[in-house]
Amino acid sequence: MRIAILSRNRRLYSTRRLIEAAEAREHEVIVLDPLRCYMNITSLKPSIHYKGEGIEDVDAVIPRIGASITFYGTAVLRQFEMMGVFPVNESVAISRARDKLRSLQLLSRKGIGLPVTGFAHSPDDIDDLLDLVGGTPMVLKLIEGTQGVGVVLAETRQAAASVIQAFMGLKTNILAQEFIKEANGADIRCFVIGGKVIAAMKRQAKEGEFRSNLHRGGKGLPIRLTPQERSTAVSAAKIMGLNVCGVDILRSNHGPVVMEVNSSPGLEGIEGTTGKDIAGDIIRFIEQNARPNHTRTRGK
Ligand code: ADP
Ligand code: GLU
Repeated sequence: MRIAILSRNRRLYSTRRLIEAAEAREHEVIVLDPLRCYMNITSLKPSIHYKGEGIEDVDAVIPRIGASITFYGTAVLRQFEMMGVFPVNESVAISRARDKLRSLQLLSRKGIGLPVTGFAHSPDDIDDLLDLVGGTPMVLKLIEGTQGVGVVLAETRQAAASVIQAFMGLKTNILAQEFIKEANGADIRCFVIGGKVIAAMKRQAKEGEFRSNLHRGGKGLPIRLTPQERSTAVSAAKIMGLNVCGVDILRSNHGPVVMEVNSSPGLEGIEGTTGKDIAGDIIRFIEQNARPNHTRTRGK
């Protein structure tokens, strides 16, 4: 097969591993910087161009689209979908996952366990909002944050109110969320491919930090999932419409709660922690599912 990887940098661990795994299985791989793809949106003949050449005969596309380029990156991916190329994750699902509020709304409708979460627009409603999520300590997060940046623990009601006010003043949307203290600075990353959890790790925040992101100094450790955690991760992936994703779960005293579903999960931490060939599993998923010119994505 001819597989395109949409990635800004072929030297990134995840991109390198995907190239390696695809080539080991005798596929042809091209890496395209999504910001250098340009498009001809012509009736009945959509095309993509790259550095002066038309991109043709691609069977599958692996999107590795960073949060900061979601808009343009998903437009490029959508163009591939229009051309009948099989996307590992479809553009609509990626856009959906990038919006934390939208994701939580979809998950809540289907009964997935979630931290109690509130959202408001007017400063006049801040007081009620704080009550709604059970008071402080509480977590405040930017709707489109990533890697733990834009996630704040507010210890007192006054701190929470002033942070919310400040963000409202900047016209930035944030969520107020119940702080799951009993998680003890750890979360669980479940790596889902094609409706199965194929690997999981616990991420433990460093001393004095409640955010367990690897980018914030968190450490990956082996973990055994409970059946309930496993089924929560699988359901969350399904609801989001993602074939490949990282479902982040907290162990709360009211069961597993989903914090977020990551549509472009990194491979380095999870492969390093579990020793599994996850890049290989993604390529095998493509082999089993890609039927070029039969994409049934909603990006149409
Ligand atoms: P990002 O998308 O930026 O990674 P997250 O929502 O995943 O943001 O939050 C970052 C980290 O903060 C999580 O990995 C988790 O360790 C911690 N965290 C987030 N929300 C909560 C919460 N409600 N209770 C306890 N810890 C949380
Ligand atoms: N690896 C980054 C993190 O730990 C972001 C991508 C991901 O969540 O897999 O925050």
